[in-house]
Amino acid sequence: MSNTSELFGSMVFSNAVMRERLPKETYQTLQKTIKHGKHLDINIANVVANAMKDWAIEKGATHFTHWFQPMTGVTAEKHESFISPTEEGRVIMEFSGKELVKGESDASSFPSGGLRATFEARGYTAWDATSYAFIKDKTLCIPTAFCSYGGHALDEKTPLLRSMEDFNREAVRLLKLFGSNVSSVKTTVGPEQEYFLIDKSVYEKRPDLIYTGRTLFGKKPPKGQELEDHYYGTIKPRVKAFMEELDEECWKLGISAKTEHNEVAPAQHELAPIYTTTNIAADHNQLTMELMKKVASKHGMFCILHEKPFEGVNGSGKHNNWSAITDTGINLLEPGDTPSENAQFLVFLCAVIKAVDDYSELLRISVASASNDLRLGASEAPPAIISMFLGDELTSILESIKNGNEYAVHEKEQMKIGVHTLPRIPKDNTDRNRTSPFAFTGNKFEFRALGSSASISEVNTVLNTIVAEELKQFSDVLEKADNFEKELHNLIRKTIIEHGRIIFNGNGYDDAWVQEAEKRGLPNLKTTPDAYSKFLDQKNVDLFSSHKIFSYAEMKSRYEIALENYIKTINIEAETMIEIVKKQILPSVSSFEEDLASAIASKKSISENMSCKFEEETLAFESKTSDKAYSELKNLEKVLSKAKGESLELAMYYKDQVIPAMKKLRSEVDTLETCTSAEYWPLPTYGEMLFSIKY
Ligand code: ADP
Ligand code: MG
Repeated sequence: MSNTSELFGSMVFSNAVMRERLPKETYQTLQKTIKHGKHLDINIANVVANAMKDWAIEKGATHFTHWFQPMTGVTAEKHESFISPTEEGRVIMEFSGKELVKGESDASSFPSGGLRATFEARGYTAWDATSYAFIKDKTLCIPTAFCSYGGHALDEKTPLLRSMEDFNREAVRLLKLFGSNVSSVKTTVGPEQEYFLIDKSVYEKRPDLIYTGRTLFGKKPPKGQELEDHYYGTIKPRVKAFMEELDEECWKLGISAKTEHNEVAPAQHELAPIYTTTNIAADHNQLTMELMKKVASKHGMFCILHEKPFEGVNGSGKHNNWSAITDTGINLLEPGDTPSENAQFLVFLCAVIKAVDDYSELLRISVASASNDLRLGASEAPPAIISMFLGDELTSILESIKNGNEYAVHEKEQMKIGVHTLPRIPKDNTDRNRTSPFAFTGNKFEFRALGSSASISEVNTVLNTIVAEELKQFSDVLEKADNFEKELHNLIRKTIIEHGRIIFNGNGYDDAWVQEAEKRGLPNLKTTPDAYSKFLDQKNVDLFSSHKIFSYAEMKSRYEIALENYIKTINIEAETMIEIVKKQILPSVSSFEEDLASAIASKKSISENMSCKFEEETLAFESKTSDKAYSELKNLEKVLSKAKGESLELAMYYKDQVIPAMKKLRSEVDTLETCTSAEYWPLPTYGEMLFSIKY
């Protein structure tokens, strides 16, 4: 298939396929289920399943799976073949409605954070009919949500779907007050995915990349990103071939991969899809990450999704572009053309401002992980302090509302401010301030603190819920208003006065901002344990339980899983360091030292006066440094052996004791690298990795 439009969605059981393949009545009933979340009758499910199976078999599928997103951050699948034996000893291909809508699987090996007692190992997967089924690797994949026997969410998707429903309810309620009769509102997301590509041959020689996804050692190469010659640079043919195949694979699955370019660091790239409904965007992003790995491997490369694979060069993030759209096609974060559209825009904008200020800790928590800690606040990614960028124009509009002044748009037109006519907002002032974690970019918000390897589900669950909460508070006030416009004006003004502190249009990488933010009372949660120590605060528990996103038990389980993940990640890194230093670095350095020593001895055997300056000085330095590395190794082993306790306490120990010990060991090893012969150094260097794709 060379035609892109034919290729696009060719492996998706899409709306068009359903319309074509399902009896009219079945199709209409299924549409109702999809649009309004109605229960799907088993007879209908049987018809749908049968059509799906026939379609999948025609496309070469032999198996089906319920595809879900447990709390591991990656997706899970258990393949079952369609075959079903007949009495004559033959097989027929079968797939029932029951198998389509519900699956039962052993959940005991997925993280549950204590939610699922082991005697209750069963978990259920239930079809998310709003996300289309698709074929991947000859397998029909049914996107599903994953719950425990008791109905607790065991995955990333269930809370996301709950938060979308919640947002929908509150947004529709608020829009009614503006005389709108929209029947649904969906949040939309376009995640920009950053990644690195290196040659497989260098990857295979780095146990740290293999075990932990990042390099634990490596000195800065002579050339890094300082020449800024990679960003948007010409794409090398090998990478281009990879991108072309990746695009095609994405398109087959209906993922609208749109923009591919080189990023800031050498070997770093980005893919951005066209935005779509949030739960579908989440499914698509998981698939995109999986495809990146697979396609890279086919091209003899390795795709690194880790947030900070190389120290000293930029890490990778995933900008989460977020907005909300009505079923009538109105983007609620698009400044409108008329004053009333603008009033509506301003109220949604204010809901986001208030949400980000009220719940900045939750937003910070939603991007917290051991790997993202290495990136946030490193003057390449937004700081761990959550603030909002609105741009000068929007900020001065809000200021003028706050102060009750007239607002004059720079050179453009006179803005009318007043109770009846809220100002018209100029359209073309999107932001190019890249240092803000949460930026308004013309018709959407871009949350930039998310890490490259993370699922987008958690972040969007939080975003949807916190904004829904503010919409709810606004409706509670506005519904009771005698004079709607006056109350609306007051509400907007009040929000700006009370929550203006979250708006910061300056340089987020600047040290002065850290102090300024502290003065404003904005939290600065630098690490994952710091962030998670706030997760179970009453305010957050109240929010999630009142919106029925998470029960307390579900929150507690997520808290435990996140901390356990943090601890395990750092523990694996520390163990990997120990192994590499013991088995590779120190033995290699010792061989080099032996070489130097025998070179000195043989030179001296010719003449006592023979100069051995290089050999002697290098040997002395190597010897001293390898001793230091050895003691740091012993120290790390000791620190690790003392790791005790659980949950937050243990996570804090890893943060305060283990990570510093790892850093000290790394520093000595990186020094050794500077003076050890390349012939002896056992690991590919940063230069060899970052410039491994040569053509
Ligand atoms: P940038 O200038 O940051 O590179 P673009 O304008 O190309 O960004 O958009 C980046 C991402 O934002 C794309 O994935 C795009 O589809 C997405 N996006 C655009 N509009 C919306 C929207 N209304 N809701 C969610 N995402 C959106
Ligand atoms: Mg962007």
